[in-house]
Amino acid sequence: MKNIRIINAADYVGEKVKIGAWVANKRSSGKIAFLSLRDGSAFFQAVIVKSKVSEELFDLATSLNQETAIWVTGEISEDARSKFGYEIQVEAIEVVGESDDYPITPKDHGTDFLMDHRHLWLRSSKQHAIMLIRNEIIRATHEFYQREGFIQMDSPILVGNAGENTTDLFHTEYFDEDAYLAQTGQLYGEAGAMALGKIYTFGPTFRAEKSKTRRHLIEFWMIEPEMAFVEHDESLDIQERYVAHLVQSVLDNCDYALDVLDRDKEQLKKYTQLPYPRISYDEAIEILQDNDFDVEWGVDFGSPEETFLAEQYETPIFITNYPKAIKAFYMKQHPEREDVVICADMIAPEGYGEIIGGSQREDDYEKLLKGIENFGLGTEEYEWYLDLRRYGSVPHSGFGLGLERTVTWLAGTEHIREAIPFPRLLNRIYP
Ligand code: ATP
Ligand code: MG
Ligand code: MG
Ligand code: MG
Repeated sequence: MKNIRIINAADYVGEKVKIGAWVANKRSSGKIAFLSLRDGSAFFQAVIVKSKVSEELFDLATSLNQETAIWVTGEISEDARSKFGYEIQVEAIEVVGESDDYPITPKDHGTDFLMDHRHLWLRSSKQHAIMLIRNEIIRATHEFYQREGFIQMDSPILVGNAGENTTDLFHTEYFDEDAYLAQTGQLYGEAGAMALGKIYTFGPTFRAEKSKTRRHLIEFWMIEPEMAFVEHDESLDIQERYVAHLVQSVLDNCDYALDVLDRDKEQLKKYTQLPYPRISYDEAIEILQDNDFDVEWGVDFGSPEETFLAEQYETPIFITNYPKAIKAFYMKQHPEREDVVICADMIAPEGYGEIIGGSQREDDYEKLLKGIENFGLGTEEYEWYLDLRRYGSVPHSGFGLGLERTVTWLAGTEHIREAIPFPRLLNRIYP
């Protein structure tokens, strides 16, 4: 007899198998009992018919507390009534780990309670499904970049200078020196691109965001490709092919999770259609002003503006060439316009907001030096970064995709706190 995982049940119809699982739920009519079992791969139903088993087994099955760990033995059969399609006809149960009164049932509890019990909340079918989608996005990311010839490169997490800006920095001590938690791996990614051609970093990043939104975490993971000899238009091509690959991979490999989450698959399919529309920041301002938004040229967009702009199309969109003053110091100035930089944000549909920020990088030594000074950053700390423009500087571009933003969007869930196992939020560092 084989030990199997629930997700593979289809391959064992008619066979007797053994499964290690936890009891997620139970109900009984007196004549027949149903246990909802989960083993980490999926949830499905175990059936115990009183007339077919010993009294002892039936009593045991109906007395199990939620989250009791068991070995269950029985035959796999088809179950047309459930979404999953299979169940197990129980012949034996062996208790492995007892469970006390289980404290949470997601439907009955508010967010704070669930967040306090995140270590247990992760066991629910919805949270489980979101984690399966997160895993697929990570897998498909490596698949995409490795296939495209990118080299994965790890950037440091403890850093000596600001990568993005000086306001959202986490400060710490590094023996006798000041240090910060990385806001981005990008500057190191650029050094990597000059050494290795095309690289991607994939690591945790930290921003002391003081605002509470549904889209911001304090600690989040970013995928940051950086490419030498690549102008920005080519970078946009890669970005949209990458995101379409993520969507297609989730459709191909997360059927079960998408069903649990009631995610509309037809809707997701639309997001594999390329190219994604590209509108300039100037055009975006016009569209917004024509629709009674109170925006002036020069402002950054918030969630209402991004949502409205994306709603005009069926897929994610790019907004290109933002004002220089609201973007980071390393972005390349537009050759014909002093006031804008060569950059783009990718905005996800359905109100999910910015998922990618990217740009061509300033490759001119003098302009970059001026940029660093204008942003009020100390040039000494950036000496190493300026070296990249002293020794064989080339046009290069890159971007950062937020993992949790993408998980939230593809899973179709409300809040980014559910897209990471243990979210770090403004007022929460426990558990
Ligand atoms: P936003 O405008 O939403 O604050 P940003 O422009 O500050 O984002 P970037 O510096 O461009 O963000 O970072 C690249 C990507 O990282 C973003 O497009 C987004 O997907 C993700 N990201 C940025 N900040 C956060 C955060 N606090 N929590 C989760 N993801 C984030
Ligand atoms: Mg931000
Ligand atoms: Mg932004
Ligand atoms: Mg951005």
